[in-house]
Amino acid sequence: MNVTPMMQQYLEAKGVCGDAILFFRMGDFYELFNDDAKTAARVLGMTLTSRDKGENATPMAGFPHHQLDNYLGKLIHLGYRVAICDQVENPKEAKGIVRREITRIVTPGTLTDDALLEPRESNYLAAVALPGKKETAAEVGVAWVEMSTGRFFSGVFPTARLADQLARIAPSECLVPEESNVVPTHLHESILMTYRPAWAFGKEGAGEVLKRHFETMTLEGFGFGDQDQLAVCAAGAVLEYLEETQRTSLLHIERLTPYRASSTLEIDEATRRSLELTRTMRDGRRDGSLLAAIDRCVTVMGSRLLGDWLSNPLTDLEEIHRRLDGVEELVLEPALARDLRESLKEVYDLERLLARVMTGRASPRDLGYICKTLERLPHIKAKITSRRSSMLRLLEERLDLCSEIRSQLAEALDDSLPLSPRDGGVICTGFNADLDHLRGLAAGGKQWIAEYQKQEIERTGIANLKVGFNKVFGYYLEVTNVNRERIPTDYIRKQTLKNAERYITPELKEYEEKVLSADEKAKDLEYELFGQLRDAVQLDAKRIQQTADVLANLDCLLSLAELARERNYCRPQVGESAVLRILDGRHPVLDLKEIEGGFVPNDAQLDSESGFIGLITGPNMAGKSTYIRQVALISLMAQMGSFVPAREADLGIVDRIFARVGASDELSRGQSTFMVEMTETARILNTATNRSLVILDEIGRGTSTYDGVSLAWSIVEYLHDKIGCRTLFATHYHELTDLRSSLPGVVNLNVAVKEWDDKVIFLHKIVPGAADKSYGIYVARLAGVPREVNERAKQILNQLESEHLDSGGNAKIASKKERRPKTDLQLSLFGPHEHPLLEKLREVDVDETTPLQALQLLQAWKKDLHDEGAPGG
Ligand code: ADP
Repeated sequence: MNVTPMMQQYLEAKGVCGDAILFFRMGDFYELFNDDAKTAARVLGMTLTSRDKGENATPMAGFPHHQLDNYLGKLIHLGYRVAICDQVENPKEAKGIVRREITRIVTPGTLTDDALLEPRESNYLAAVALPGKKETAAEVGVAWVEMSTGRFFSGVFPTARLADQLARIAPSECLVPEESNVVPTHLHESILMTYRPAWAFGKEGAGEVLKRHFETMTLEGFGFGDQDQLAVCAAGAVLEYLEETQRTSLLHIERLTPYRASSTLEIDEATRRSLELTRTMRDGRRDGSLLAAIDRCVTVMGSRLLGDWLSNPLTDLEEIHRRLDGVEELVLEPALARDLRESLKEVYDLERLLARVMTGRASPRDLGYICKTLERLPHIKAKITSRRSSMLRLLEERLDLCSEIRSQLAEALDDSLPLSPRDGGVICTGFNADLDHLRGLAAGGKQWIAEYQKQEIERTGIANLKVGFNKVFGYYLEVTNVNRERIPTDYIRKQTLKNAERYITPELKEYEEKVLSADEKAKDLEYELFGQLRDAVQLDAKRIQQTADVLANLDCLLSLAELARERNYCRPQVGESAVLRILDGRHPVLDLKEIEGGFVPNDAQLDSESGFIGLITGPNMAGKSTYIRQVALISLMAQMGSFVPAREADLGIVDRIFARVGASDELSRGQSTFMVEMTETARILNTATNRSLVILDEIGRGTSTYDGVSLAWSIVEYLHDKIGCRTLFATHYHELTDLRSSLPGVVNLNVAVKEWDDKVIFLHKIVPGAADKSYGIYVARLAGVPREVNERAKQILNQLESEHLDSGGNAKIASKKERRPKTDLQLSLFGPHEHPLLEKLREVDVDETTPLQALQLLQAWKKDLHDEGAPGG
């Protein structure tokens, strides 16, 4: 088969871009060929055509070059990688075929284009490094970078927690060694997995890449030690991939920050999902999540950082108080807060702007935005000077005004800036004498042309003679056909139109030369000056980056203060003791919604005295899930440094939050709902500590009632005896309320319900005590189940209850008589706890007891035991 030189070029490019779809620039179009064209036709609906016919027919699809962002965006969001092959020399100057090169490979995790990025969300590329023996690896290294801002982190984590870490980071792309299946398959749905050769994760290679990039001899300066080897490997793989795909400077990635899990509250993947911290469970969107509900940031940098704060709540008391103090100061000074927020409204995305400067992609407009942002700084700095809270003081200290670069930009840049630095109009008048001279020349030339037109009208007497310009002929004189007779002899004809003729004169051409070359020279000079400005910004990058970070932090504090004031939140007491006490708590998301009758606030109290396990019974739809979630969210918000939706809150720090709530999308993961429920429960029971907060919703619902009740029962016992963590357990099995009689740490709660005229009204109020009924049948009525079905259900319920309740009306469930006393816990928590029968036994004088008396005693004791063991007894 004959391959044209162009196709040869195409095939070479295709050879180096791996499995990426290749956009091949041809003139004003990007073309796709072969399988790429077919894929694009299939997923984007592009029209499939064919290059050449017959034997050489090649499937092809294309689009005009100015639609690049549009097509790129669609493919990236669908999880494809795209390589862009551009013409890298001017076609006019090319000898033979134009030279083309892959200028970058765009992947979901390496986006820098504003048009493809969500401004309020971070977009991370992650990498997972395994030690040599992968199957048995206890630990993995995980690194993650945001190409659009340069933030770069790395850490070592237990392999069992990898999914949790990836859920926390939520990267859009993850690099893994070839043939490894270390990342659980269900995560492949939301994260594009990119397989890289094993050497890319190797110790030597990774170390080299990092040292070369950061120009350091070792990585110890960043805080990485011997134990962090895997973190270094993962970071190396990230950088290596960026170098391969980006083909531009990566200077904005200035630092690699070690991530230490110990200073953050651990939240596993399932909990993160079910608490809907940053995305909703149903459609995975930000709208409807806790983050969207609490975000009052006015800058996108603030919004992104707030997302980070929420995803990584703190466990360090001092750090939590530092943030809380900062928020409080702003709450107490509303005028100051308002003023600062107004100033921040004029702040642009300094982080991403700077990253574009560093990677050589900044436009004149970008420099203008940086300049405008820097101009706000003196006012902001003045406002946060001499503040009380250490956080505001620290921010003030770190806020670098970057005055030199600001004045440099302000002096140089024009007021309205073009998108491209080649278009001219970047530099303002008065900044550069040479530029002003060239511009004067160009403008003067135009002036001359206007006068020339006037002069020629007079000379020829052709009133409608005019001087025009086009790209092909340059300046020309246009004379309509009616006046053709009066044309002087020195006019040289250049073009004939329908009604007119176009001419040039030597004089005109001479001036044209001057005007055009002055214009051209001015643009060239402007381009050079623009380059110098960009370099100057690059030199100050570290300072500007630090300032960007200060602005983001300030915006977060302001956002939390605004929310606190707007929603009437309180400052939580956060301390070391294992308590949880909330007065009039509200659910931070539901509280914002228009709920009929308003959201009903609720108290919560969990501690060793009043009970650390709250068992909430009540009908479905009563508000149990809402209540237990709200308690978890309030704890979490406090530890991110936020005020909380409550009248008062006293919260002992928790090390982990576990939420096992509802059955969600488990079926799509190919596991039965019940299996997932039990897997998650197993994790909680195996990893929770006595400092954790556990919320469980309807454990055991996925199996038969007896199975379910039994499991739920023993799970609560285990949490009580073996773990001793603060727990809220919502259930519609009211049989479980009997646990109270055998477990001193359990307290029964229920949701108040008003029955009225055969109807049930949910009051959404949590009150002490056990629910006495399961209201399922009433709820079924509410849902519109036919009355007949409902009546029959009532009959059946009565019958079942009479069979399964004892004479006292209590469920015949295994109670403490079948439980061996857990002396270990009872000793530790409440001191020795002896059964009264032992005392009676001691009192018996065996020598004085007849066999009959002995039997009678035995019978009496058995009866005591029986009575005591009966539920409610
Ligand atoms: P359950 O878990 O008991 O089945 P949910 O917690 O799902 O009930 O609550 C059901 C509905 O009741 C919620 O969607 C919400 O609209 C409403 N609700 C719950 N708690 C409250 C409350 N405290 N105040 C007002 N409405 C509430």
